[in-house]
Amino acid sequence: MRVDLAGRVAFGRILRGIELLLAAGRDVSVIAVVSDPSPQRARRLHAFAAELGCTWLGVNIEEREGVNAQRPTTRDLNRTAEFWAELLRCWQENPRVQVREIDRALGFAAHTLREQPSPSRPAMIEPLPTVAFDGSVTLISPELAGFTSERHGVFSCGNVLDEPLDQLIDRGLAANWVREYRRGLRNCRDLCPYFDFCGGGHPSNRHFEHGRLDTTETAYCQNSKIALMEGVIGVAHHNIIRNHPR
Ligand code: SF4
Repeated sequence: MRVDLAGRVAFGRILRGIELLLAAGRDVSVIAVVSDPSPQRARRLHAFAAELGCTWLGVNIEEREGVNAQRPTTRDLNRTAEFWAELLRCWQENPRVQVREIDRALGFAAHTLREQPSPSRPAMIEPLPTVAFDGSVTLISPELAGFTSERHGVFSCGNVLDEPLDQLIDRGLAANWVREYRRGLRNCRDLCPYFDFCGGGHPSNRHFEHGRLDTTETAYCQNSKIALMEGVIGVAHHNIIRNHPR
């Protein structure tokens, strides 16, 4: 249950805010964090978003990250793939509520089918500078800001109160932890069949799950990229068989 800074349950006020937005003619999008994905939960979640009057539903499978570091991570990939497959079926039944992740997966599939085969996308580093409240700058992932690693120390390349941001970015891109992440990206590109869809990012999940940045698979990408794509492919396969029985 989401609470406000004072620890009070915020659910009723969130519902009221949604009602006001809808009454003012605004589209409403919601993001849900799902701890234990299952087909039944997918159906309830989509129905609830429809009941609220939402246009878009975004779904984050709960991650082990930041202050949420002690939580177990979902590992039953078949069940998670079924969760995504059920969300896809729910959207097909009621397209008024679109699902962000399904839309991305279908968009990728459509693009792949339309375009000529091309070489894998490059393993690009996005500097993504994050400036903390005290001016300290972290690169490649806002979720790493304020955290340290036993191997690399603090994930910061300096402070904007002392140095211009472009200098900090230049220096930060050569830091050991960014170089380690670059190796991880290359490993993803070279080893993972889902790389073109996924892009191989998520440095914070690598750190919080494995304690280093040059690994490849994490529970995060298994749940949110691999199982998602497998769920969508499973529905497509099932529909083809149903429509064209032997
Ligand atoms: S799915 Fe995982 S292993 Fe594959 S490219 Fe993405 S982050 Fe790397």
